[in-house]
Amino acid sequence: MSSSEITRDVVIIGGGIIGGSIAWELARRGLHPLVLDRQEAGREASWAAAGMLQTAPDNADAIPLVPLARASLALYPQFVEDVEADSGRDVGLRRTGAMEIFFSSDAARELSTFIALNHGLGLPAEALSLDDALEMEPALSPHAQAAAFLGEECALDSRALTDAVLAAAVARGAVVLAGVEAESLIVVGASKDAGARVEGVVAAAHRFTADQVVLAAGAFSSRLESARRYAPTRPVRGQMVALLSSAPPIQRVLRSARGYIVPRDDARPQRLVAGSTLENAGYEKRVTSEGVARVLEAAQELVPDLADAEILETWCGLRPDTPDHLPILGPTDLEGLTIATGHFRNGILLAPITAKLIADWITERRASFDWEIFSPLRFASPES
Ligand SMILES: Cc1cc2nc3c(=O)[nH]c(=O)nc-3n(C[C@H](O)[C@H](O)[C@H](O)COP(=O)(O)OP(=O)(O)OC[C@H]3O[C@@H](n4cnc5c(N)ncnc54)[C@H](O)[C@@H]3O)c2cc1C
Repeated sequence: MSSSEITRDVVIIGGGIIGGSIAWELARRGLHPLVLDRQEAGREASWAAAGMLQTAPDNADAIPLVPLARASLALYPQFVEDVEADSGRDVGLRRTGAMEIFFSSDAARELSTFIALNHGLGLPAEALSLDDALEMEPALSPHAQAAAFLGEECALDSRALTDAVLAAAVARGAVVLAGVEAESLIVVGASKDAGARVEGVVAAAHRFTADQVVLAAGAFSSRLESARRYAPTRPVRGQMVALLSSAPPIQRVLRSARGYIVPRDDARPQRLVAGSTLENAGYEKRVTSEGVARVLEAAQELVPDLADAEILETWCGLRPDTPDHLPILGPTDLEGLTIATGHFRNGILLAPITAKLIADWITERRASFDWEIFSPLRFASPES
């Protein structure tokens, strides 16, 4: 391939749910974005995800994320409607809520702490009697000790969503180039001076120039040396199992401290996905027997009849984690470089709000949400 220079309004590095959603939103606003992906777009974490739109925090680190998560969930119905219209595809949105199930001997106390925490964060969690829980989900384990219902949560097919978002972006005039790995940023001016700016990306012997570059390379964002100081992402592996179950179909996401089950359809036998592990295994994408065993154990604790389910598929993906486990969103001190990465366990949920905030910034230089705690500058000391 001979080297050349290609110019677009915005170059986006990474064609996962985040890069794809930003490209679509920018294209809807009349810009001409270009997405570069080092492989087929939409085949990394976004392809691996369970597809829960979970606003309830699963640990203390996730509490600062709740306002952003709720803002994104509020955008979701319209986001899905518009993506489906632009792409002509269905993404399998289920607005049936989620159930949190407690199994320990201390379940009653865990349930009241869970409800109090969620109410304190403005999330509509409701304690269920076990009879009500079993009536709502007849396949639920009789060993459940307590249950809560999270009525506003949703789920969808994350592979279908990512493919639909990319198709919608292309339908709106974005260009998605597969097999093109961004190798470095084109930085003009002394790199640590205030006047330095990014004018594009070097990839596969081409110069892709643009007024704006957005880094959305998921767990791989930290591999781009000139952007590492803003985006110190690291991969956290998650293993998943898809099952075909003849048990009574489950209507909604079922979750416990050990794992979750997400329905993919309402058929009988029913397709379900079960997850997941949280492993520090570097960039090694490997499904292990221990990982699958843990996922299946957690799924069977929730729904014992799944012991008889057929295993359809196993896979794993690399979540883009960050030092404080929060996403990295917004402009940097390098003019022309914006970061949208580090969505860790919530990138599917956070795609609509991320696309809106980054597009607002690029097109209007304004932030419609207080995103200071997610700033890329929180990691970037001047010496680094
Ligand atoms: C097992 C598992 C379950 C999950 N479940 C959920 C869930 O239920 N709900 C939820 O909200 N989130 C979930 N997540 C998290 C979610 O998947 C991620 O937060 C989200 O997919 C991140 O999207 P992304 O676009 O930033 O990254 P990715 O989807 O990883 O996309 C990054 C893209 O960048 C490309 N790329 C990388 N480097 C370069 C380069 N140098 N040049 C060009 N392209 C490059 C890659 O090829 C890739 O296509 C889950 C994740 C995993 C692994």
